[in-house]
Amino acid sequence: MPRGVIPRQPAKSGRHEGARGRQAKVPKGVGPAARLGRTGARMRAQSSKAAGPRSRRAPVAKKAKAVEITKGFNPLAPERIAEILGRLDQLYPDVTCALTHSSAWELLVATILSAQSTDVNVNRVTPGLFRKYPTVQDFAALTPEQLEPDVRSTGFFRNKSKSVVGAAKKIVSDFGGEVPDEMEKLLTLPGVARKTANVVLGAWFRQAVGVVVDTHVTRIARRLELTENTDPAKIEQDLMKVIPPEKWILFAHQVIWHGRKLCLARRPKCVDCPLESICHAADKTWSTVEVHQNARP
Ligand code: SF4
Repeated sequence: MPRGVIPRQPAKSGRHEGARGRQAKVPKGVGPAARLGRTGARMRAQSSKAAGPRSRRAPVAKKAKAVEITKGFNPLAPERIAEILGRLDQLYPDVTCALTHSSAWELLVATILSAQSTDVNVNRVTPGLFRKYPTVQDFAALTPEQLEPDVRSTGFFRNKSKSVVGAAKKIVSDFGGEVPDEMEKLLTLPGVARKTANVVLGAWFRQAVGVVVDTHVTRIARRLELTENTDPAKIEQDLMKVIPPEKWILFAHQVIWHGRKLCLARRPKCVDCPLESICHAADKTWSTVEVHQNARP
């Protein structure tokens, strides 16, 4: 980079100098700041010129307008939610669960192993694991210590071994060797909380009982101001209130992919993000709209 050239920074005020009007059409209700766009910014500048030199204008006028813009924004407006879902559909039309599996049991094991690990890492481990132990009965016959070397590379391997072997034993003893297809029953398995249960119910049984809330969904739901909570159970409840039930399964997959591709935890790629013009996250790396300090990862 030539000396003296300063890289672009996100606009704290929501007006990014030189920002292109590259966003898709934003409907009514999405928020005044988002709707302003480049043309709106230019019109505002023109009207401010017409108002005369700065010194002759009332000093409170600019501040009052900024407050008004923030106040008029409703992150949960149905039109905004529909726009978010529409843009996610365009961006990720056919995404599914990234964990390799060929049965409900394999998906359950892969999901338990994916905690604090990456799907790529888990997918490296599971094919060999399921060749070595093809059935749930094979896992039920193990001790956690026997399984540990096989899952070591996924991290937290002692706890994960305990959960997988414990879940296998319970499935064999209480559910006839079949992974149950009900939330209440799944939650009785060792190492299975709502996230894992939602993954299995949604991706294998095609049942939309809730929304999968993992680290990506947590971060992006907060950045998009769909929730203010940090607790996954509360985030799930918030999302279930605003996302239509028929979208619960796909929405979670789309957001998880978005978190991997663009909305990264550190330095999200906002300049390439089709949601940019309706996202007001405080930690955006590029902004053509007003940013909101309460929208944090
Ligand atoms: S604009 Fe940036 S912070 Fe907002 S959703 Fe897109 S990548 Fe994430």
